[in-house]
Amino acid sequence: MALPTVADVTTTTAADRMLAVRRIYHEPSVTTYDRGLEVLDRFPDAERVEVASWQDIPGLYGNPGSVEDWVRNKREVLVLGEKKSLSARPNGRSADFIAPSTSNGCAMACSYCYVPRRKGYANPITVFVNIDKIAGYLARHVKRTGPKTEPNQCDPVDWVYDLGENGDCSVDALVSDNVRDLVDLYADLPGAKASFATKFVNRDLLGWNPRGGTRVRFSLMPHEMARRLDLRTSKISERIAAVNDFVAAGYEVHLNFSPVVVHEEWLGQWRNLLREVDDVLDDVAKAQLACEVIFLTHNADLHEVNLGWHPRGEDLLWRPDLQEGKVSHSGQANLRYRAAWKARWRDQLLDLIATETPYLRVRYAF
Ligand code: SF4
Repeated sequence: MALPTVADVTTTTAADRMLAVRRIYHEPSVTTYDRGLEVLDRFPDAERVEVASWQDIPGLYGNPGSVEDWVRNKREVLVLGEKKSLSARPNGRSADFIAPSTSNGCAMACSYCYVPRRKGYANPITVFVNIDKIAGYLARHVKRTGPKTEPNQCDPVDWVYDLGENGDCSVDALVSDNVRDLVDLYADLPGAKASFATKFVNRDLLGWNPRGGTRVRFSLMPHEMARRLDLRTSKISERIAAVNDFVAAGYEVHLNFSPVVVHEEWLGQWRNLLREVDDVLDDVAKAQLACEVIFLTHNADLHEVNLGWHPRGEDLLWRPDLQEGKVSHSGQANLRYRAAWKARWRDQLLDLIATETPYLRVRYAF
């Protein structure tokens, strides 16, 4: 029997730390899908609880009492359901289109994450098992859209489809083959490219064959910030160290500087981070590199939730002395940096990028 490689051992350890699934909530129909059966087989010892809808699980969602179980739910609970409505939404920032999700929720626990705002209080991974329908929809959408005739900041040639708006695809790949199926799909779809931001280094992805059809955007922030805010994620140095390997494996790799959190020492910390990127990345990786820069927007309800499970992060995220209120499209009370100050800070960070990593093209910054 072949001994496990170093990569196998690393991935197994990371996967075990991330997930120990004890309970699976599932819609009744999931057992009629191969993907549903595969995931259930992958966790044979988990208790199975049938629910009418993945969106309405009493005791799990919208339950303020479960804030104490925030991380335990992420590690021990999985939800399986069907994605009912399929549509690719125009975006224009991280991608040209937001693809219909193949999952919703995340096993990691970044304290600024906007995904749980929509569900309230618990947000474990939900896997959508009708992957064939989702992949078929995307292939038809690419065909219907036709070739991109004008370059834009998303990509000069390809239409870019964001796969990971509601979760983290690298962690999803520990649970099911949904992400691999889509990476395979885009490897063979001329004129289109998949893309996802990630905070987890899953080296299993290095064994796939993306053939340039998938852009991985490793999310980075200064180490000091990540230690307080990016809970359960791969360390920043590990993410930076993975860039060369992912490029060599056939992915396009960009950087996602998000969220940029402003505090008294933020600019010096960003200088150190950019210098680390410059030291570690090889010339091949640098030649294809680009980034996006997104300053923090926080949320009043999320602030209240976070005070219940991780108050230390709120010292950084909740800064009314630097922020101003803004009601979102969906009526949520958000806080973002005061407009005039943010414009100045954005320019300072862009100047720093131009000085420390002049090859790093900024796709957009806001
Ligand atoms: S990795 Fe992304 S989806 Fe997961 S908790 Fe962090 S911000 Fe949210």
